[in-house]
Amino acid sequence: PKPNGDPTAMLMKSYACQRRTPLKHYNSFLTEALEILSQNAEYNDNEGRSVAFRRAASVLKALPRRVRSMQDLRCLPCLGDHSQRVIKEILEDGSSREVESTRQSEQYQAMKALTGIFGVGVRTADRWFREGLRSPDDLIRTGQQLNREQQAGVQYYDDLQKPVTKAEADVISDIVEKAVHAVLPGAEIQLMGGFRRGKEVGHDVDFLITHPEEGKEEGLMPKITNWLKEQGLLLYQKTTRNSYLEKMDGPARASSNMDRFERCFSIFKLQKSHQSEASGWRAVRVDLVVSPYSQFAFATLGWTGSKLFERELRRWAGQEKHMSLSSHALYDSKQNLYLRAKTEEEIFAYLGLEFIPPSERNA
Ligand code: ATP
Ligand code: MN
Ligand code: MN
Repeated sequence: PKPNGDPTAMLMKSYACQRRTPLKHYNSFLTEALEILSQNAEYNDNEGRSVAFRRAASVLKALPRRVRSMQDLRCLPCLGDHSQRVIKEILEDGSSREVESTRQSEQYQAMKALTGIFGVGVRTADRWFREGLRSPDDLIRTGQQLNREQQAGVQYYDDLQKPVTKAEADVISDIVEKAVHAVLPGAEIQLMGGFRRGKEVGHDVDFLITHPEEGKEEGLMPKITNWLKEQGLLLYQKTTRNSYLEKMDGPARASSNMDRFERCFSIFKLQKSHQSEASGWRAVRVDLVVSPYSQFAFATLGWTGSKLFERELRRWAGQEKHMSLSSHALYDSKQNLYLRAKTEEEIFAYLGLEFIPPSERNA
């Protein structure tokens, strides 16, 4: 039956990139539960299931009011049988048995602790879990072989578990700006990721760096990291060179979510502002990305997130527009050409989407 006079049902589009999703919403009591099931599916290498739960949660984040009954969900997209069962149980009983038993399970808790280590993905964590390991302490105790990244991850585990505040992100921004301008005057630096979307805390701080004169940005990262090292501000860094070649990488590769910019995954040594605090500094994860000016709009869109929003943008481009979107470029398969853009607004327009500002990309 067609919904009559239900504005929620009529407005809710099915791709997250067609919707406005604010940071604060009315349904975290449901979305947190669905996201636990999504996370658990990811730990079990079931990507389809993981995305399904995440999409369901995302629809609820975009609702303009709290869900009070199953009636409120009529005609909403992306809510599969399983998600609906979980929601129903929470509405009726206050919690879902499946969610609570997942939350308490040894596997979920161990996978969360192990994948929470910088440099450890689901595959490695799963192997360790099956070997009986449960925590970073277990890795140290049993003398596991760790790569350089994972060693840093274990060493700074406690600090890196603590959320980074906006105030800390602002201090890091000043440092990064100083470093970049010391080695390349005229370069532009932009705060990306969760903080660009208006989050008050994050798991890291992300920056995108470019220079209006194309080519000036080449080989910039080692200069930045050397400057930071000399100042004693880096605890760890791994730089990867830019490996993007339009002719070879696009459009075939363009839909992959891993981009090929020059980048640096690092851990900063951040001095604390209050001398009274027990130790004078803390470790903070920082991601630096360098983009050529001509790709800056695409890089900006690609590094703002959220991860689901990005995923949905690429899915929309491919399925609805026969285009291929990456953090480097937008390729139109019908016209066989790359679409140039200087701003995020132009990219949304090419995609036939209403512009969604960063603060409403919290899908
Ligand atoms: P948090 O507050 O937890 O850091 P976040 O949204 O900033 O949340 P990040 O993991 O820092 O999450 O990622 C920020 C953005 O960068 C996301 O949009 C993500 O798609 C993009 N991104 C992260 N890693 C890569 C990568 N290796 N290649 C391409 N894009 C990436
Ligand atoms: Mn981030
Ligand atoms: Mn990041």
